Amino acid sequence: MSLRSKSVCPKCNSDCHPLFKREKTFPDADAAASYYDALLKHVVDGPAFASLIRADAKSTDQKGAVSVKTTLHRCPKCKTQIIEEKVQVHDGSEWKDADKLSRRISIPEGVDLICVFRP
Ligand SMILES: [Zn+2]
Repeated sequence: MSLRSKSVCPKCNSDCHPLFKREKTFPDADAAASYYDALLKHVVDGPAFASLIRADAKSTDQKGAVSVKTTLHRCPKCKTQIIEEKVQVHDGSEWKDADKLSRRISIPEGVDLICVFRP
């Protein structure tokens, strides 16, 4: 495990535990943008955000396909939650990390997204 895969609580610096993971794959960047760009236009505790997280998206492994892995983490100490998204792009033969597109979405105190992520 590399250090980069660790999620540290922005508040108390504890290692956060992954709770739930969701993965979506899109056939191309435009399709991915309809999720990836749209997500941050909504408040994290609103219904539009929840339905985007819950939506299923599945594409075949093809050149230009985009995979987004969304993980909900929670700090064991202060219960702060964070969302991490890792993006990979298929180059025609394999998935390649798109580190520039990976991101972290901080969740305001008191907002609980477990019910959004729980299958
Ligand atoms: Zn914490």
